[in-house]
Amino acid sequence: MTRRGLEVGVDVGGTKIAAGVIDATGAIVRSARRPTPTSTDIPATIADLVREIAAGQELAAVGIGAAGFISADRQTVLTAPNIDWNEAPLGQDVSALLGVPVVVENDANAAAWAEHRFGAGRGAQQMLAVTVGTGVGGGVVVDGHLVRGAHGIAAEVGHIRFERNGLLCGCGLYGCLEQYASGTALERRAEGRLQGPGGAPVSGPEITRLASIQDPAACELLAEFGHDLGEGIATLVAVLDPEVVVIGGGVAEAGDRLLEPVRRGLAAFLTGGDERPGPRVVAAELGNQAGLVGAADLATDPDADA
Ligand SMILES: [Zn+2]
Repeated sequence: MTRRGLEVGVDVGGTKIAAGVIDATGAIVRSARRPTPTSTDIPATIADLVREIAAGQELAAVGIGAAGFISADRQTVLTAPNIDWNEAPLGQDVSALLGVPVVVENDANAAAWAEHRFGAGRGAQQMLAVTVGTGVGGGVVVDGHLVRGAHGIAAEVGHIRFERNGLLCGCGLYGCLEQYASGTALERRAEGRLQGPGGAPVSGPEITRLASIQDPAACELLAEFGHDLGEGIATLVAVLDPEVVVIGGGVAEAGDRLLEPVRRGLAAFLTGGDERPGPRVVAAELGNQAGLVGAADLATDPDADA
């Protein structure tokens, strides 16, 4: 495909907005960031950032990744957890300012797409991505296409039911996987079992670090946590039958200390057991830039639409 103009990705977070120009390999060649302003000023801030990194060069398209429910036409933020957005026509507003096509995508979907195109899911036509951060997010690629669903809000993998009558979730339901297998859940599980200096609560990264130096309580905690995550993933794999499951997010930095128990939990709860082929379970490769990279690629990739 002939490349016409720069491909730019934008990641809108609760505290900062990052923008980057990516090349044909998905590498970020230039980037900039600003604090997130109030929601009405976000389109202008994005346009300023994009102009800054484009430095006068022609733009091909801009892709924006944001947490929240995005409309099926990839233009409107229906609702968002961290920003005061309701039915916000973000794509249209930024497009009017920059004069180029703009596509908006859920940030976890965008990150999953980046792993499919340039990261750990490269070459796999059927892929499930699960991102374990503050919450649990994810994305699904089927037959090489990102699955958005009928209304643009598919692949909310953190909100499958994991425990009947379980813990209250931020989404208002009870027992969602996110309440058992997110970074926040890992820290909660550590209470009473692991302590920092002076009895302080331990953070997710500290738990991972303790496990890396073979602290028995931290290893046991990560093993239980990973097994539960694997159990949740088994439900998704039963439906999707992917080639590969890509695990990302901060907790995935524990590597095989997390992935091995995930594999065991998946094997224990996947229907068909040893009688069926299952997916590979691997760590994501693109880190916290994946959302920006995926959004940029989705803005210009004609094959990205399901
Ligand atoms: Zn939920």
